[in-house]
Formats: sequence, structure tokens, C-alpha cells
Amino acid sequence: MASVSIRNVRKSYGPVEIIKGVSIDIRDGEFVILVGPSGCGKSTLLRMIAGLEEISGGTIAIDDRVVNDMPPKDRDIAMVFQNYALYPHMTIADNMSFALRLKNTAKSEIAAKVERAAGILGLGPLLDRFPRQLSGGQRQRVAMGRAIVRDPKVFLFDEPLSNLDAKLRVQMRTEIKEMHQRLKTTTVYVTHDQIEAMTMADKIVVMHDGIIEQVGAPLDLYDNPANMFVAGFIGSPAMNFIPGSIGGDGFTTEDGSRLPLGGRVPAASDGRPAVYGVRPEHFRLADEGLAAEVVVVEPTGSETQMVLRPLGSKAGQAGAGREDRKRELTWVLRERTGARPGEVVRIAPDPARAHLFNPDTGLRL
Ligand code: ADP
Ligand code: MG
Repeated sequence: MASVSIRNVRKSYGPVEIIKGVSIDIRDGEFVILVGPSGCGKSTLLRMIAGLEEISGGTIAIDDRVVNDMPPKDRDIAMVFQNYALYPHMTIADNMSFALRLKNTAKSEIAAKVERAAGILGLGPLLDRFPRQLSGGQRQRVAMGRAIVRDPKVFLFDEPLSNLDAKLRVQMRTEIKEMHQRLKTTTVYVTHDQIEAMTMADKIVVMHDGIIEQVGAPLDLYDNPANMFVAGFIGSPAMNFIPGSIGGDGFTTEDGSRLPLGGRVPAASDGRPAVYGVRPEHFRLADEGLAAEVVVVEPTGSETQMVLRPLGSKAGQAGAGREDRKRELTWVLRERTGARPGEVVRIAPDPARAHLFNPDTGLRL
């Protein structure tokens, strides 16, 4: 096991800077997830930790030892990729033990390690099969088994569940988390899926365009997003953003509707433009609330998601266009509802759970 320290790391391809000065402290045994939209530099950063990609600036240290110039094989790291990368002509047992055989590990030790990993992952009965005789989920487990038998200081995962169907993804999420609780190996896991990040991580690093937007525990990011990017990226369905201004003891939307701030008005902010952020589950029915027309009702059984178009806005008029769509609100409720498209409901946000953002910088006020 090991700690990993990433200090002001940069990466350029030619004149284009892809990673623009990133610092992350990863504690011994921690499960850290790098999450962000496709192309933001997650894989590049992970590959630099693994030594598969040169570092243009800054330092990466494993257990206080700078590894910038250390070849991958000396870093004592095991990486699991999205496409499994199993050898098709080798049995599962041989795939799992390949790295150990390369190092001339004793046969008895190899057998013990493969057996232990197979036990952890439920692969025991499959050891004599070939990869083509396994399902996608089983292959992914073999790829993890291959990493486990090496007993590395650090596990690196790059979108390992992306090729699996939705149900299997949920199951594998649990298995990887269980595996980590058992082995306690320091893990850096890359995904574009914020649900994966929220459910699995001890610590989430939200990346965007080669920089870090925020680092924190999952619920900390959810409850206290530092800016509109994190607020909109973490949570599904996404947070509603309502433009307007702060005035008196409340917030006035661009349509002239009033929203409560619960006494949390920033100082000297009268008339100041702001964006009111409220999560879909933080609306409730209220007689004095915002009037909105029900556009779509989507029941999932456990909850209902509703798309609403605030009245009084241009969006309420016939022939609402793409621009007006942006003003639509999402409401999620646990109770069953008889609401139908076309009906008007009145909803109010919980001011204690609402956020205000600076519309220019995106930062939370
Ligand atoms: P992510 O994993 O977050 O989707 P990547 O780290 O794969 O993103 O890529 C980040 C950016 O770096 C992308 O814009 C990608 O096009 C660019 N990139 C990745 N590898 C190379 C390369 N070898 N040469 C030039 N650009 C690259
Ligand atoms: Mg990637």
C-alpha cells in the first residue's frame, strides 16, 4: 500500500496543454475517483501515474519517492482498463498469473495467489476456461484478478465498467467497493459517470478541461458544490439553475417571480445578479410557490420526475423554442402524483438547500 502525491502536474502535446497544473494528495488506502466529462484529461493523468505517459511539468510521488522518470514496471502499480486486454489464447488462470510468471515467481506462490484472487472475485469454477467462454462481467473480473494477484501498491482503473450493461455495472460497483474494503489497496479510479463516483469513492476529484474544479467527499460535493460546474455535474437529474437577482430578503427571477433565501442573503448584494440553484428533489408543493405548467411526467416507480415550464416566462407561451427550454425545471418527488401534462402546479424550493452562484464566475456566493 502507498500514498500518491501529485504536485502541480502538467501535460502538453506539442503546443496544446491538456493537464494544466493539477495537485492531488491520495492517502494510503484511499479510494479516489477522478470524474469529469470526456476529454477533460482523466486518462492522461492516470497514465502519468502509471508511467505510460511522460510528465511535462510537476512531480508525481509514490510513498514520498518521486517517480517521474521511473519506468512503469518499477512502480509497483496494477492497471485495469475498460477493454479488459485479456490474452485470448490463455486460460483464465494463466491470464491471471501471467505477470507473476514473468517475474519467475515460485509455482506454489502463484497458485496460492491465483486461488485467493479467484476466491475474492468468485472466479474459482472458471479458471480453466478461455476468455471467449466468459461473459463481459466475468472478463472484467478476470482483469481485476490479474491486478489483485500482483499485490501492487496502487490500483489504477480506467473506466472499467463502461462496456457492461446497466445492471451488471451496478453489481460490479458493489464488488469493486467490497474488494477495496477487504484489500484496502490505494486506488485511483477514472470514470465519466458521476453516479459511479458518488457511490464508490472516499474522495472525488472533479476535473474539467485539464484543471480540478473541486475535491471532496461525495456528499460534501453534493451538498456544498464550489461552483456551477460541480453543482451541475454531480447529481442526476441535474440541479436547476434559475437566473435573476438578489433583492430585499429574497431572490427575484428574470420572470419576476420571488424565491425564498431563508435569511441567507449575502451582504451588500441588493440588486446583484445571481443564479439560484436548487436540486430537483428540493421543491415541494406550496400555495404561494412558483406557478408552472407540467410538461412531462416520468414515473420510475420509486419516484416521479416532472419537467415543468414556469408560467409568466416566455417559456409558458405556445411555440416555446430551444432558448425557452433552458428555463424548464426538473422536479423529483417520492410520493405518487396524479398530475398530468398541461396542468398547473405551484412549487417552492427549500431555501435551506438552495444555492446562489455568481453568474460571471460561476462561483458559489
Ligand atoms: P478523458 O480520459 O478525460 O476522456 P483524455 O485524457 O483521454 O481524456 O484526453 C484529454 C485530451 O488530450 C483530449 O482532448 C485528447 O484529445 C487529448 N489527447 C490525448 N492523448 C493525446 C495524444 N497522444 N496526442 C494529442 N492529444 C491527445
Ligand atoms: Mg479516458
